[in-house]
Amino acid sequence: MKADLGGEDSRWLILEDGFAAALAGTCETLFTTGNGYLGTRGSLEEGHEGALPGTFLRGVFDHHDSAVADLVKTPDWLSLAVVVNGVRLDVTSVSVVRHRRVLDMREGAVFRDTVFEDSEGRRTRVETVHFASSAAQHLCCLRARIMPENHTAPVIVRSGIDGTGYNLDRRPIYAEPPPDDPQMKWHKWARSRHLDEVAREHLPDGIYLETCTIDTGITIGYAALTRVSSAASSVEQRYKYIEQVAHAQVAAGDTLTVDKLVAVYTSRDVPAASVRPACLDELRRHTAAGFDRCREQNRAAWQAKWADSDVTIDGDPDTTRAVRFNIYQLLIAANESDPRVNIGANALSGERYRGHAFWDTEVFMLPFFIYTQPETARALLLYRYHTLDGARQNARDGGFRGARYAWESAGTGVETTPKWTWDGAHRIWMGEEEIHVTAAVAYGLMAYVAATGDHALMTDYGAEILFETSRFWASRLEAMPDGRYALSRVVGPDEFHEHVDNSAYTNYLVRWHLQQAAHVYAGLAVSHPGELAGLAERIGLKPDEVEQWLTRAEQIRMPTRNDDGVIEQFDGYFGLETLPVAHDSNDMPMYPPGYHHYNLAGINLVKQADVVMLTYVLPDEFGDDVKRANYDYYEPLTLHKSSLSTAIHSIMGIEVGDPRRAVQYFRRAAFVDLLDNQGNTQEGIHIASAGGTWQTIVCGFGGFRVRNGQMTFKPWLPPDWNAVDFRLKWHGNTVSISADHTSATFVLTGPEGCRETITVNGRQITLQANTDVTVDLLRGPT
Ligand code: BGC
Ligand code: BGC
Repeated sequence: MKADLGGEDSRWLILEDGFAAALAGTCETLFTTGNGYLGTRGSLEEGHEGALPGTFLRGVFDHHDSAVADLVKTPDWLSLAVVVNGVRLDVTSVSVVRHRRVLDMREGAVFRDTVFEDSEGRRTRVETVHFASSAAQHLCCLRARIMPENHTAPVIVRSGIDGTGYNLDRRPIYAEPPPDDPQMKWHKWARSRHLDEVAREHLPDGIYLETCTIDTGITIGYAALTRVSSAASSVEQRYKYIEQVAHAQVAAGDTLTVDKLVAVYTSRDVPAASVRPACLDELRRHTAAGFDRCREQNRAAWQAKWADSDVTIDGDPDTTRAVRFNIYQLLIAANESDPRVNIGANALSGERYRGHAFWDTEVFMLPFFIYTQPETARALLLYRYHTLDGARQNARDGGFRGARYAWESAGTGVETTPKWTWDGAHRIWMGEEEIHVTAAVAYGLMAYVAATGDHALMTDYGAEILFETSRFWASRLEAMPDGRYALSRVVGPDEFHEHVDNSAYTNYLVRWHLQQAAHVYAGLAVSHPGELAGLAERIGLKPDEVEQWLTRAEQIRMPTRNDDGVIEQFDGYFGLETLPVAHDSNDMPMYPPGYHHYNLAGINLVKQADVVMLTYVLPDEFGDDVKRANYDYYEPLTLHKSSLSTAIHSIMGIEVGDPRRAVQYFRRAAFVDLLDNQGNTQEGIHIASAGGTWQTIVCGFGGFRVRNGQMTFKPWLPPDWNAVDFRLKWHGNTVSISADHTSATFVLTGPEGCRETITVNGRQITLQANTDVTVDLLRGPT
């Protein structure tokens, strides 16, 4: 059951050596396991003081007594307590002789190995492995081995389904920050309750707990069977909690093996009345197969995922491991078989941002899925289709036509951004003003169709999204006396500045969005006139409305540029005050003394990539000089107070020729959670940064862009790397890329006879099926 540590390729392993209470929360996040259907924080099975275990089921939201809908903390299946000689073993109350935890990313499983010693010197070793199966997404598996090392002991194993957990909410405990702690650490965690118990049962072959979310009425069933070698078990229970309890006498040097299999269903999967039978059937099937078989199947499923998504950096094993960690987190975040769910800003690994989806999905994560797991990308885009009614409601609520996607989106697509910060001190305007997320949906859609050639998605779903959102833009744009159209009172990616007019990022994206919609309309009129007529009829769309999109697009007020080509971030930005920016010991910028997120409105400092972001997402709108001028101008003013910022600065740093910063920003992004460099990893994985990290490899170091419908590359590697390898799916085939400092090799994998023309460093190259092509990167374009 061991992860192979010694000798095996450590570039697949994330290791914790020794238990440190201060790092416990961070490790719980880092060791999250999951399969897109559910995510389980990597808490130690037995629990300990300060532990924050959590299992989140994608799509299970509830509002009840929290400020806005939460992704519900559902019952914990991992719970397994071991009592030896009457002492319950846990890392905070019993001394720990040795402790090691390993995430083996090859098989998506977490291994732990801890030796406890009680006050009498009795040592007991506990080894476990657990995973949420990627082969059977309703299945979770845990195996434990309990070994008294120097004593013979009565051992009790308590294997539970624990529904007593709560979501957390921050609530203030003082009216204002205490003078000695001005940094707002004056909150406590309060609880939000979302689950009521429905049923609790001792079955002939296991235990069952059924709960129900209080507002949304989602039934959640967990069935579990724990088998303990050479021990009989009984069941103990109380409200929202049930456990199997096994008693055994274990001799020194012997091993007690515990296998726990758990099946999970909700009324999102099957009708409420079928949740229980579905759980029991699933559990029976897997217990008949046994733990080892379940583990093999999970391994095989992971192998297939990695075959499509792996990235390696020759010459930098640490960074390879970090990049794989980001990819691992992306792979466990998304669910290709459920088109009604999305990925929250912290995926299924914690409670931060309450499981809500942001623009993070389309702009940061979706490219990874488009080019490695296109079915998952499709499902993510279908979520936007299934939440179109919510988006319509958002537009209506603001007094506009069409559909506006929520800045924060949960189950229905209706805006779920909280209106106030947790302490009630600041109004949050993002729900009303951070409207660029609507253009992000169009961006994701267009990129997906270009890469996959899946035009059916556009005809059947995407066109409706593009048209309804264009309607929103057309009604949201305000006519100005000079005949132009403005977008006032918005927030761009830089959230330090609220209520701004004509955000460059937003206006450029809106113009592009309207043009794309009109273009898709024109294309469908030729290719699918019947479908287009049906859709137009259904949503009451007339050709002159489409004409109007184009004229408004032409007349959008575009931002001012200075003589160097620097684009003004929003109206009046160039007139804002400048403050010197100091850097911390990691050479990262800090807030100027006395300043924080909420009092920078009059200062020209920027939270995260904004105009620089624009030059990345719309690469063809700007020449090289303009990209460089904007990077040079904004990079020193950007504080990177969002983890979304650094990957984009890395990519653009490479493009404009700032390799030193580019590499520094890449490392910030790639290690954001492994080194906890935003300071809040304990609250969940920075999953947008994970997507950004992958994009930095592919679009930064690989220099990949799609231009005129073709793949283009311009590789550049940091001096201390030997080579980087990755692969991209394109129109159903795969292009594998291996680049070093002087050459790049491309292989097209697909059916015999397939061809693909790509551009490398400005040169057109035609790839033929299964034939290597090596390009000399030092030769100029011919
Ligand atoms: C984020 C916003 C978000 C708000 C409420 C802030 O920290 O920057 O984007 O809408 O929290 O969740
Ligand atoms: C960032 C947003 C982001 C959100 C969720 C905020 O801090 O400013 O751009 O969408 O976090 O990750």
